[in-house]
Amino acid sequence: MIRAAVLAVTERSRTRKLITETPPGRLVARRFVAGETLDSAVSVARSLNEEGLKVSMDHLGEHVTDVGAAIEAKDAYLACAHAIDDAGLDANISVKLTQLGMGLNDDMAADHVREIAAAAARVGTSVTIDMEESIYTETTIGIYEGAQKAHGNLGIAIQAYLLRSAADLDRIIPLGGHIRLCKGAYAEPEDIAYQGDSEVDRSFDRLSALLMSSPDTKPAIASHDDARLVPVLEAATQRTAPWEFQMLYGVRRDRQRELADAGNDMRVYVPYGEAWYPYLTRRMAERPANLAFFARALIGK
Ligand SMILES: Cc1cc2nc3c(=O)[nH]c(=O)nc-3n(C[C@H](O)[C@H](O)[C@H](O)COP(=O)(O)OP(=O)(O)OC[C@H]3O[C@@H](n4cnc5c(N)ncnc54)[C@H](O)[C@@H]3O)c2cc1C
Repeated sequence: MIRAAVLAVTERSRTRKLITETPPGRLVARRFVAGETLDSAVSVARSLNEEGLKVSMDHLGEHVTDVGAAIEAKDAYLACAHAIDDAGLDANISVKLTQLGMGLNDDMAADHVREIAAAAARVGTSVTIDMEESIYTETTIGIYEGAQKAHGNLGIAIQAYLLRSAADLDRIIPLGGHIRLCKGAYAEPEDIAYQGDSEVDRSFDRLSALLMSSPDTKPAIASHDDARLVPVLEAATQRTAPWEFQMLYGVRRDRQRELADAGNDMRVYVPYGEAWYPYLTRRMAERPANLAFFARALIGK
C-alpha cells in the first residue's frame, strides 16, 4: 500500500522536477547511485572490490520508446564489459530488458541480450537479467531461457512477491544459471502478487530454501532483511556448491562488509548513468525514511 502511494506521488511531473533538478534531490540520489558516467561506476566498483565485495554493474535506464535508445543502451553495456576487463574488476553486469527494447521489439531485445552475454563471456564474466513489472515476466523468462541455452553465462532475478515464482523456479533451475531472489520492487495487483509483508517474507523463505538446496543453480540471495538472511546462513552450512548474497549500493553498507568479512560472497549492485530517477523512486518506496531524508535535505536540516 505504502509502496503504491509513494510510487504514485513520485510519478507526478512536479515531484520528478523537484527531485531531479534540485541539489537535495541529487544529494539523495548520490547515496544510491554511483554517478552518471561509466568512469564513476568503475571507480566505485574498484573501491568495493578493495573492501572484499564483488559488484554487479547496472547502467540505469528502462522502458525505452525507440530503437535508437535500445541500441545505445546495448552499446553502453558492451562498453561496460570492456571496462570491467580493462580495470580488472571482480564484477558482472545487470540488465533490464525494457531498456534493451523489450515491449518495443522483443526479438531485438533478445538479440541485444545475446550480444551482451557474448561480450561478457569474452571477458570471463556473466549477465543477470533484472525482473521488472509483472506484464513482462513471461517474456523476460523466455528471453532468458534462449540466451542461457546459447551462452551459458546468464542469470535472472525472481521476485518472491509473485504468486507464480515457485513454478518459474522449477522451470529455470535446470538451466543452470545463477538466480537472484529478491522480494520485488513494483506495485502489483493482488491476483498476481502477495500484498502483505509477512506473506512476501514467507514466500521468500520458501524460495530461498528451495534455491539453497538445489546444487544445479547458483543462488544469489538479494535482501537487506536480516530475518531473511538467517535461514540462508543456516542452509549454507549444508551447501557445497557456490552461492552469494547481494545488496544494493548505499543500503546497509556495514552489514555488507560484515557478511563478507565472515567469509560469505557478497555482491553489491552498483547503478550508474543519467536515467536514475525511476530507480531512486523505488528505493524511496521501499523505505519511506528515505523520503524523510530527502525532505530534511530540502529544508536544509
Ligand atoms: C541486489 C539486488 C537486486 C535487486 N533486483 C531487483 C529486481 O531485479 N527486480 C525487483 O523487482 N527488485 C529488485 N530488487 C529490490 C528488491 O525486490 C526489494 O525491493 C528491496 O531489496 C527491498 O527489500 P529487502 O529484501 O531488502 O527487505 P525490506 O524489508 O524492504 O528491507 C529490510 C531492511 O533493509 C533496509 N532497507 C531496505 N531497502 C532500503 C532502502 N531502499 N534504503 C535504505 N534501507 C533499506 C532497511 O533497514 C529495512 O528495514 C533488488 C534488490 C537487491 C538487493
